Amino acid sequence: HAAPDADASIRLTDTDAAIARLSAVQKGYIHDPYIKHFVPRAHLQQPRPPLINVGTFVRGIAIDELVDQWLATASRTGKQCQIVSLGAGSDTRYWRVATGTHKDALATYIEVDFPEVTTKKAMAIRKSKDLSAILGSSPSDIRLGHGGMALHAPKYHVLPADLRLPPATTLSSLLATPDETGGSPILSPLLPTLLLFECVLVYMDPSSSDDLLRWFVDYFSAKDTPLGAVVYEMFGLEDAFGKVMVNNLKSRNVSLPGAGPYPTIQTLPRRFLNTGFSAARALTLREIRRTCIAPEELQRLSTLEMLDEVEELDLVLEHYAVTWGLLAPAPDVHTSWGG
Ligand code: SAM
Repeated sequence: HAAPDADASIRLTDTDAAIARLSAVQKGYIHDPYIKHFVPRAHLQQPRPPLINVGTFVRGIAIDELVDQWLATASRTGKQCQIVSLGAGSDTRYWRVATGTHKDALATYIEVDFPEVTTKKAMAIRKSKDLSAILGSSPSDIRLGHGGMALHAPKYHVLPADLRLPPATTLSSLLATPDETGGSPILSPLLPTLLLFECVLVYMDPSSSDDLLRWFVDYFSAKDTPLGAVVYEMFGLEDAFGKVMVNNLKSRNVSLPGAGPYPTIQTLPRRFLNTGFSAARALTLREIRRTCIAPEELQRLSTLEMLDEVEELDLVLEHYAVTWGLLAPAPDVHTSWGG
């Protein structure tokens, strides 16, 4: 495994992500009243360039849409579903789902990250009345676990793990084994489940991320339970512009072992097809911006900030993609969870 200081650099990418999200909120691109609780005080006023704000916006609407569709399908079929966010960092999606249109469709939301990150997140949650109030109606609904590295609430769990370790030992004991009281495992193998990997697989060897995906495929296919997964990542870093992006990260001691194996938009779905998913698709952020945003919304965005580097924007957006895969064992399930 990488040296500990390299892991510290990887963990710092979460602070970047949280600052970028807060910047997009402050500039009016997105609405997220929760992210400010996870941004260190010293970074509360750190606007990012327009290019980054637009990227944060486009990525956000793409993943929001996939998550919404998943929850809406659960609602329609009268089932509840689970969401598992791997490398979740400071993500606030749980609070947005728990206060959103489809909140009743959510059974459980689980986040996994390095212990240093989950410890900080658990502390920030306990400190904030806003965040805690949505997690449970009484203080006793929220409890810490794993010596403060984990947090449990009725529908929400933050759990510490290094995702590069063999899932058969780490994830199995964390998610799939009955809790201390002999109750059901945190992750039910019977409820339709959506996995989120936002900006995380790129930091892992491809063999580790394949093992991770296969572990989930095995867990859910054993019970014929629908499984979906969404990956957001950088790709195509071999060209001139990609090299600039990679070198930028290298100068901060962050290397991207997972950026290699799927170099084009056509090859990205293979990540899922090679690990047992039955269908997969990928779109670049450039395509998503062009085709999935309503004209009124594009018009609104154009009034927020001057964006004069339109060509550079396309270059950046072309190096990021959202890929989604589906494991839908039974044919009748396929039609309702197909999307
Ligand atoms: N998913 C969040 C988002 O999109 O805002 C955070 C993204 S941040 C760029 C990457 C996150 O992945 C960090 O929180 C980092 O700690 C986590 N991460 C990277 N490698 C990991 C590993 N091997 N095990 C657990 N977490 C990891």
